[in-house]
Amino acid sequence: MKTELKKQLSKISDFENPRISLEQYRTPPALAADLLHTAYMQGDIEGLKVADLGAGTGMLSLGAALLGAEVVAVEKEDDAVRILEENAKDLGLEVEIVQEDIEEFNQDADTVLMNPPFSQHSDIGLKFWEKALEHGDTVYGISPRGLRERIKDFVGNSSHEVLAVEEFSISLPPSYGFHTEESHETEIDLIITRRTDNGT
Ligand code: SAH
Repeated sequence: MKTELKKQLSKISDFENPRISLEQYRTPPALAADLLHTAYMQGDIEGLKVADLGAGTGMLSLGAALLGAEVVAVEKEDDAVRILEENAKDLGLEVEIVQEDIEEFNQDADTVLMNPPFSQHSDIGLKFWEKALEHGDTVYGISPRGLRERIKDFVGNSSHEVLAVEEFSISLPPSYGFHTEESHETEIDLIITRRTDNGT
């Protein structure tokens, strides 16, 4: 199933002129397939409402739709939205696209999937986490390894608990942060959280 999923996800077009300031980069299909497969096996995708924050060209949104989720894709940038629409059409999938800043996003979802921007110079990634923890019952988020403790602290102060942290290594284009010039291999985490029942 994962091989077939990865094959489908490989068809999803990348950004044409990635905006570095928005940290636009497409999640590699192999990593997206791992994330989606894990979420699917946990019962967090099929038949559920799934929100993808910072959906880009649709890697996680379209993957979730392929696996039977009702998807809302949140993305603020015009070109990404256009390519996402084309990718959905090419794969014959329907997703709801909400074009807005995630700060405006206000829908609840069973599951939030995200590979948000993480700048060393701003807390934009934590803003995504704040939204995800507020609106999702379960969250699957990709982040740089170096931010693990900060994100875990952040989750610890929310109504969610960390269920698992899985480690991956991916290749990033040279212009994107958190790696040395020589090596473009970047260590990342998939952090999975779930809302606890003992909230007030
Ligand atoms: N989820 C996609 C794209 C990841 S790149 C994938 O996995 O391939 C991060 C995306 O977040 C970019 O498309 C960027 O345009 C978008 N983005 C960045 N800041 C945003 C914001 N404040 N509100 C909404 N989208 C934002």
